[in-house]
Amino acid sequence: MTLSEAKRLLARVQQEIVAAQARDHAVRRPYCSHCGGACRVKDYRDHAVATLFGQVTVRLPRFRCAACGGIEAGVDWPAHCRSTPELDRLQAHLCAVMTYRTAADMLAQMFPVDAGKHHETLRRHTLKVGEALGECAAIRPEAAASAIVVTLDSTFIRSCAEGERHLEVRVGNVETPSGGRQVFGAVAKAGTDIRALICRTLDAVGRTEDTALTAFTDGCPGLRRILAHAGVAEPPILDWFHVAMRLQHLKQIANGLSDDDPERAEARAVILGEVERLHWRIWNGKAQDAQISIDRIRAVMHHYQGEPDGRRSIAPSRKLWTALHALDGYLTSQSAWLVNYAERHRAGLRIGTAITEGTANFLVNRRMNKSQQMCWSRRGADLLLQVRCAVYNGTLGSGFGQKF
Ligand SMILES: [Zn+2]
Repeated sequence: MTLSEAKRLLARVQQEIVAAQARDHAVRRPYCSHCGGACRVKDYRDHAVATLFGQVTVRLPRFRCAACGGIEAGVDWPAHCRSTPELDRLQAHLCAVMTYRTAADMLAQMFPVDAGKHHETLRRHTLKVGEALGECAAIRPEAAASAIVVTLDSTFIRSCAEGERHLEVRVGNVETPSGGRQVFGAVAKAGTDIRALICRTLDAVGRTEDTALTAFTDGCPGLRRILAHAGVAEPPILDWFHVAMRLQHLKQIANGLSDDDPERAEARAVILGEVERLHWRIWNGKAQDAQISIDRIRAVMHHYQGEPDGRRSIAPSRKLWTALHALDGYLTSQSAWLVNYAERHRAGLRIGTAITEGTANFLVNRRMNKSQQMCWSRRGADLLLQVRCAVYNGTLGSGFGQKF
């Protein structure tokens, strides 16, 4: 069969099956919800229900109570049922991992589905799912977690509202020693309470009063406050991931330095060596000595003085100067939250997020920052993020009521 033949066949088969199911269902007579009296068929109405295999029309009876005249729907028929839970779930899942437009195109290509073919419809449906997810309570696991690591991070996405360029997105994850992991995220000032969300996520992996909580952040004071309000008493540690990213950046720039004369070659060797030492110092909890390395690098920078910018890029030495200044400021402002990462690592303790590319990249940037043209409404981004988290947590679908 060709795909189009298969789609037609599926749609027809389903229409026949559903018609038979509806006839069986119509035989069951409800009792009046007001007086408990017996009901008789009043008339029949057509109901359109969207499914993954095309829209089906179900002919359903309405009933009237013989005693009091009250109108009843069929036994256990869900109110306002326009689509199957499976269709809702799959649409939301696809939209969480790809753009609304691509998801709509893919659904139209693969399935006989004829509802939600338009990307705007798909968006509306997905946000509705996001809303429903916000109302779900956490399902506590049977086993309590002895320790939980919480990571909280922030990133930005482009806003499409006028007079507002970016929206702040807070994302994070919780992990237990037994390998349980859940991600969470919310757009700032969008309706989802991040503190409640963190508490709910902690509950979902088995937090109790005796659980030891360790937190990591990217160093933003706002995030530290959120964690404190969410009940994480211990001061959060600066996530090694963020330190390592900055050091990596510094190394790349240092590698790009020119060595076109002996003096510069020597200076470059000194700088590369000091960047390595800087890395070692911070990793080993000797961040207070970082200044020594930074000063040594600065001392040889004069060899690059007057280096011209490239046609399309800034001179590497100028980039290094800027990156060094930024790192210096970062280390100074974060000194209170730096730890001996090497010691923790040797003891088998966490030094940051377990997601190698960082939670923000993994959760937000991959879907919501992919292209410059993508911009977001505060609420739309927040609700989509709820769906995206549910997809990764494996909770999308499990909380959906069994409509049928
Ligand atoms: Zn009645």
